[in-house]
Amino acid sequence: MRLTDTAWATRPYGAVLDLASRDGSLLVVPVGSLEQHGYHLPTATDTLLADAVAHGAAEATDAPVLITPPVWTGLSPHHLPFGGTVSLERETLATLLEGIADTALENGFDALLFLNGHGGNAALVDAVAVSVGADHPDVEVSALTYFTLAADIADEVRDSDVGGTGHGGEFETSLVLHLYPDLVDVDRAEGTMMDEPYDRVRQDLFVGGSMAVYRPFTAYTESGAIGDPTLATAEKGERLFTHLCAELAGLYEAIHGHTCERDD
Ligand SMILES: [Zn+2]
Repeated sequence: MRLTDTAWATRPYGAVLDLASRDGSLLVVPVGSLEQHGYHLPTATDTLLADAVAHGAAEATDAPVLITPPVWTGLSPHHLPFGGTVSLERETLATLLEGIADTALENGFDALLFLNGHGGNAALVDAVAVSVGADHPDVEVSALTYFTLAADIADEVRDSDVGGTGHGGEFETSLVLHLYPDLVDVDRAEGTMMDEPYDRVRQDLFVGGSMAVYRPFTAYTESGAIGDPTLATAEKGERLFTHLCAELAGLYEAIHGHTCERDD
């Protein structure tokens, strides 16, 4: 986890309460995973990236934002056959996120955003935002999977065809090369490009719709990665990260502005 000025974990409790009491205060809860990401990426990739984007965006705005340590495990049953993966049951993850939200909101935050970093968590995190929002009608509760914020520049940055930015592919590998270059085993970067048209679309982060199909990832890929990580560069990662942080900072400000107005 990042230990910046906007990290809840670095502050004494009084400073948490001070920030939470500010008009339009926003609490961000990054949610990741601990799962295989091919031969070349760290198992905490989703957690590291959601956390980094949450903090990078906070540094780009003056809105009162505080970020909890990231939730480091999620829903990853489809990655368990590879090893190196820790997963929760759906109900356990929902209860965990609701428990974090219920107690964190006792400090007085006006808004809460779950910032998800793992595709397999997305539907559940969205549903938890609904249940937490219903239980806390005075709080603006939302959920977002961070990489959707890069959709509008993905075509400019990527060199891969459809399917190239899957799990551990060109997109995630570029971001980790930019943020944590020592954690990438570049020589072992290897992913599977999908043959079936609907799998190509479904596995690409920036193409396709909301179709959900369950298969263990061993059915798709030998390395565990999908897409083309060999096209990843730190420069692409920097461009993507800068864009993600700017977009998310804009969202922080929008939530802050909205909750300030609501309180008036
Ligand atoms: Zn990932």
